[in-house]
Amino acid sequence: MKKINDNLYIFHYPLYNFNCSLLKTDDFIFVIDTYLGPNGIQDLKDFVEKNKDNKKIYIINTHSHYDHIWGNCLFKNCQIISHRLCREKVLSDGEKILNEFKEKEPKLILGDIEIKAPNIIFEDELTFFSNNISIKLKHFSGHTKDSIVIIIEPYHICIAGDLVEEPFPIVSEDDSDLKEFISSLETIDKMNFDFIIPSHGTRFDNKLVKENLSYLKQLESNSISEDYCKKKHITSEFYLEAHRQNMEYVINSEIK
Ligand SMILES: [Zn+2]
Repeated sequence: MKKINDNLYIFHYPLYNFNCSLLKTDDFIFVIDTYLGPNGIQDLKDFVEKNKDNKKIYIINTHSHYDHIWGNCLFKNCQIISHRLCREKVLSDGEKILNEFKEKEPKLILGDIEIKAPNIIFEDELTFFSNNISIKLKHFSGHTKDSIVIIIEPYHICIAGDLVEEPFPIVSEDDSDLKEFISSLETIDKMNFDFIIPSHGTRFDNKLVKENLSYLKQLESNSISEDYCKKKHITSEFYLEAHRQNMEYVINSEIK
């Protein structure tokens, strides 16, 4: 666990290079994303138990992808907040996707998972206030149509979900909109956050946003190199495959 300031903590998990963020104010504890299941985030849960006092605990899902929601069930009696589309996606596809993983990649399932959908939803934005701190949840379509970021002021920090990713962002045919992704990242880049937390990665600087943006623009104009990973010294099998799929996404959307 890494303490960023008096209110913000990052719980980092090596598998998927994943960050769960935890925001603690006088009134609230927010847990942002719940990773691959209850057994993956037991340390985070213990921290919540130790620090909860009379605070209200909220889980926030940045979007509906499995690696962001499978640990929801660890938090009994907690409210879970997301974009409306995220709740709809979890309700329609959550069980099906979990069953697919049970068959194909059971080792990614960390513990006994019960799919738990968000039960508080919003459309454009939703803001909480606690003393001098504001926590704004804001919809930014792109990586998925249900993606949101969390903006914490006065720290000028952004928890970006998968809108920002190290080493590069991922698009997928089912969920993504590349044009909206670029426009969302342009807006986030302009906000010039002091600290930006991607769900996947260990870099927290706005330069990563610029690099992600440049990657997506090259992808959109079909000018990105097949050897992008080689040039950037990216060797992870996961991202080599992700880059291939990103390029395929563009080719397929041109055919359409
Ligand atoms: Zn995702």
